[in-house]
Amino acid sequence: MTSEKGFWLYDLRVETVLDGRTPVCRHVEGESFAVIGETLVFDRMDRVSMYALAALLPLLPAKQRMTDDNDWMSTDAEIACPDPHCGARFRVTREGKRWFGHAETTGLPDQRGTPYWDKKDPRT
Ligand SMILES: [Zn+2]
Repeated sequence: MTSEKGFWLYDLRVETVLDGRTPVCRHVEGESFAVIGETLVFDRMDRVSMYALAALLPLLPAKQRMTDDNDWMSTDAEIACPDPHCGARFRVTREGKRWFGHAETTGLPDQRGTPYWDKKDPRT
């Protein structure tokens, strides 16, 4: 971390959980992806249904941010597939925290620096 103004975001892991329920869509228990900053990172050939992803996406930025211990966003970790007949859930786990500089992330012309993704290794 530097003295530059910035903020922390959690890295997230989103994992398919069935717990014996029957899926309707293509959901495979244990498949997962990471959320690092604005990026979805698939480590293997894991996949996610675009319909399920549509349900997940609005919640991920909130889950990345610091929330009160009593906020449901802090305690509730599973999001259901939007198909009402599907048994799949997606467990969102907060992993490490990552610091982002304001100048690395803003689009404001008078405050913008080198984008964070232009670093040699954007995963660090
Ligand atoms: Zn489903």
